[in-house]
Amino acid sequence: MKVYKKSSAIVIEGKESTLYLDSKKAIKPEDGFAAISHAHSDHLAGHKSETVMTSPTFELSGMSLKPKTVKYGKTYKLDGISITAYDAKHILGSAQFLIEEDGESILYSGDFRAASSVFYEACEPPEADILIVESTYGHPRYVFPSVAEVVEEIESWVKENKEKTIIFSAYALGKAQELIRVLNNISLSPLVSRDIAAYSELYVKHGLNLDYVSPLSEDWDEVIKKPFIAVMSRRFVKPEIKKIIKEQTKSPVLLALSTGWAIDYSFRSQGVDKSFIFSGHSDFNQLIDYVERSQASKVFTVHGYTDEFARQIKRRLGIDAKPLKNVQKQ
Ligand SMILES: [Zn+2]
Repeated sequence: MKVYKKSSAIVIEGKESTLYLDSKKAIKPEDGFAAISHAHSDHLAGHKSETVMTSPTFELSGMSLKPKTVKYGKTYKLDGISITAYDAKHILGSAQFLIEEDGESILYSGDFRAASSVFYEACEPPEADILIVESTYGHPRYVFPSVAEVVEEIESWVKENKEKTIIFSAYALGKAQELIRVLNNISLSPLVSRDIAAYSELYVKHGLNLDYVSPLSEDWDEVIKKPFIAVMSRRFVKPEIKKIIKEQTKSPVLLALSTGWAIDYSFRSQGVDKSFIFSGHSDFNQLIDYVERSQASKVFTVHGYTDEFARQIKRRLGIDAKPLKNVQKQ
């Protein structure tokens, strides 16, 4: 099989069929097949061709066309190519894809978390000849604290500030649900923005219980009269919101952010009072460990620190590695 990038898509070209992974451009039936690793918007497009994804990804994506939904661990045929999804533990429904043809195997990691998190154990890579791995945090300076340490830090900061209004700003899909669960564990039920409520409903449907107050709830108007705790998607959280809520609740307002980028930035210029190093991705050491465990003899890096991570794989593991480029042949 050939591996290359074509605009935003990762392309796997087999003998009889071509598979486009996480293409942001819609794939047509004459192009081949499409596969979507998870429902974050930078991995989605409304493909017209037959598209592979897990059923939670389909539900979270809000797409209308019925795709070919796959289950973790089961193998499906796309003409000559076969594809198997494995849990990537990044968000609900996220998948790594193992693509095989004539005894050759290619593993596409998608976004994954190779450390235990609020909801999941660390993800396990299946073994493969070739690995295409995300490298969002593929620089040695990105080493995250464990989820237990971060959760403890969040819990004690929330308790210290219980007389104040606290607004966590988070990605609406994935991070927000983890924060809701962290707050639930200390008996708090946060207010959430409408988009977070919609995604959370699907988390609950798939067995991950969450307790929150949605904007459609009758309790909402009552709760916002006094200091409250909320998890809002990032687009709603602007510095001026602090002033509005402060006047409304007659209490100080604190803005908190949780992201892996908190290693680099405090986000104070955006009105953030506290940032937590809390990511849905793998940190540098976990990425290296994942590559090693995949047993791949050739690695292509995609997203983020592609050059640096390829260099580090070669240096630390002695494996042939390079960024996946927009060319027809590698
Ligand atoms: Zn993602």
